[in-house]
Amino acid sequence: MSDSHHPDGALPGHPHIARSNEQLMIEGLSAEELAQRFGTPLYVYSRAAIEQAAGQFEAAARDRPLGLRYAIKANSSQAILQLLARRGWGFDVVSAGELARVLAAGGDAAKVVFSGVGKTDAEIAAALRAGVQCINVESPSELQRIERVAGDLQMRAPVSLRVNPDVDPRTHPYISTGLRSSKFGIAQALAVETYARCARMPHLRVLGIDVHIGSQITSVDPYLDALDRVLELVQHVERHGIALHHLDLGGGLGIRYADERPPSPQQWIDALFERLQARGQGHRQVLLEPGRSLVGNAGVLLCRVVTLKSSLDGHFAVVDAAMNDLMRPALYEAWQGIEPARLHDGRQALRYDVVGPVCESGDWLGRQRLLDLREDDVLAILSAGAYGMAMASNYNSRPRAAEVLVDGTQAWLVRERESLDDLLRGERGLPG
Ligand SMILES: *Cc1c(COP(=O)(O)O)cnc(C)c1O
Repeated sequence: MSDSHHPDGALPGHPHIARSNEQLMIEGLSAEELAQRFGTPLYVYSRAAIEQAAGQFEAAARDRPLGLRYAIKANSSQAILQLLARRGWGFDVVSAGELARVLAAGGDAAKVVFSGVGKTDAEIAAALRAGVQCINVESPSELQRIERVAGDLQMRAPVSLRVNPDVDPRTHPYISTGLRSSKFGIAQALAVETYARCARMPHLRVLGIDVHIGSQITSVDPYLDALDRVLELVQHVERHGIALHHLDLGGGLGIRYADERPPSPQQWIDALFERLQARGQGHRQVLLEPGRSLVGNAGVLLCRVVTLKSSLDGHFAVVDAAMNDLMRPALYEAWQGIEPARLHDGRQALRYDVVGPVCESGDWLGRQRLLDLREDDVLAILSAGAYGMAMASNYNSRPRAAEVLVDGTQAWLVRERESLDDLLRGERGLPG
């Protein structure tokens, strides 16, 4: 993977993030100024980049029976949800907390699908009361739970069964969800009988079928394999007299972190609809749940170099962001680009491990990166818009970062940095 720090122009795969006169720019503002003004660590998102990605999905959806449901676990910040809600997007949520976030941002409950492998009674009730479009059911036992909760509320719950198509998305094992060995979904062999059971439950209304095979998928082939499996099942199920109104094909479209060349939203959606057409199913209502591909490359995490230190074996740049701010490197050994906000002449470049101050050896953001650094320099961790802030924690009692949305030459603080008081909120001392 290349360490080259991009000279002038847009960073490949990162629309609206560019190098101009040595400075890293997010739309019309320099990373260095943003770090100065709002402090670090700081998440910065380009509004134009998010709108551009959303627009690509919308263009591909035009004239097709396709509903777009942003999977908010990738980044559930209110400003981003508002932006998509205003464009008419629906949402995929995996908890009552995420549902509350969507409703608070003005999202339409009738365009919400509720996924997740362990929904509680309270979460199911919240979803039914809110009037969600569909609950994606992950097991026969969950089906009974939903039937009971819907019965108590004297409602009929709209459901789809999430089936496990047993296809390999050829991605990291932690983000593969459609293999037979995974905890997600209902095995294909059980699907028909589970649908039949579902159709007999008075408080359920069968709407469709759902798959989600994994994340950071960089080719259309696994999707087409999964679609073929789904269409086979649809045939079996409908032969039993159960009509399926929609096919929810999940999310998972990859982005360019290093040198990946994932399909564009248009290519992904074209491929799906061509296959549907070829199987005589072009009329089917389809839902998609993209997360990462909407926001991943629209965001960076800015941090500042605190200390440069060398050991016998190498060089460390200790920065003020850490695994609690951005967990992907520690969790998946993920590679994300690291760009200095301002370039030096390169003559003091060394191979650095860029690490945080957290007391864990897993606390690194990048390894063996060729960088010319001074203490107090600002660095941008690229591709941090998805599964960045959404996974942040307070480990080591570190307040969570602030978030800024850049719009041209304006910057909006969309989430305040947590304070030390925030860290203690809700805690109570010993009695007496
Ligand atoms: C995580 C998830 C998504 C979104 O995945 P991305 O890789 O971010 O596109 C969609 N649907 C379900 C059910 C998920 O769990």
